[in-house]
Amino acid sequence: MARTPIIVGNWKMHCDHLAAIQLVQQLSYRLDPKDYDTSELVVAPPFTALRSIQTLIQGDDLPLGLGAQNVFWESEGAFTGEVSPAMLAALHVAYVICGHSERRAMFGEDNQDVGRKVRAVLAHNMRPILCVGETLEQREAGQANDVVVRQLNGGLEGVQAAQMGDVVIAYEPVWAIGTGRTALPQDADEMCGIIRGHVGDVYDAAIAGDLRVQYGGSVKPANIASLMDCAHVDGALVGGASLDPDDFATICRWHRL
Ligand code: PEP
Repeated sequence: MARTPIIVGNWKMHCDHLAAIQLVQQLSYRLDPKDYDTSELVVAPPFTALRSIQTLIQGDDLPLGLGAQNVFWESEGAFTGEVSPAMLAALHVAYVICGHSERRAMFGEDNQDVGRKVRAVLAHNMRPILCVGETLEQREAGQANDVVVRQLNGGLEGVQAAQMGDVVIAYEPVWAIGTGRTALPQDADEMCGIIRGHVGDVYDAAIAGDLRVQYGGSVKPANIASLMDCAHVDGALVGGASLDPDDFATICRWHRL
């Protein structure tokens, strides 16, 4: 089965709900139906803009997916400041980013936490985007593969084979995020291939063959085409460049470059 590429804009902590509406409008003016046919296109605004963007997507019938940047694993309760998977599902959120390196590094999320989030997202019929990736020190110490495999094992713990069709993996080397330094296409392809191979070992070859593996880390209009040319890269998780409607639209139209 051919894998449909998926391009996701991770806006991080940018855009209040008004700026978010403007950004989606500017993006949608720049895209045409062919772009949506070629790739699944998703935006992941901050929590406070989810409701506004959901209304815009529904009201204007935009073929754009809605993503969230984080979630807590419990359904409800005394968890001040947290947002539950049920709350996201009620806003028609389709994708939830789990285990982004900024959350691992700054908010202390470990592989077990990430696994809980992935399972909670799946249990609420949404799709997790499980982020994995090594630091520069780990890469230079030759530990990149082991780190990524450990993150995969933790993030996918308890995920059943039948649920794997809803899982997207994002390979995001930490040293490439927000640094302007992109992994070489062959390095991105190699690690995305290792991820696919590991999923094949844990599950089976058919599941691995259908798995969508994105690359993330300073993806820009200038490098998207060479990344998308890689056999194991099925899309991109885009941070900084997704805040510029021209740049993000160009990335979404990678097939025309
Ligand atoms: C990200 O936030 O996932 C990311 C890859 O950021 P950037 O594109 O800015 O490196």
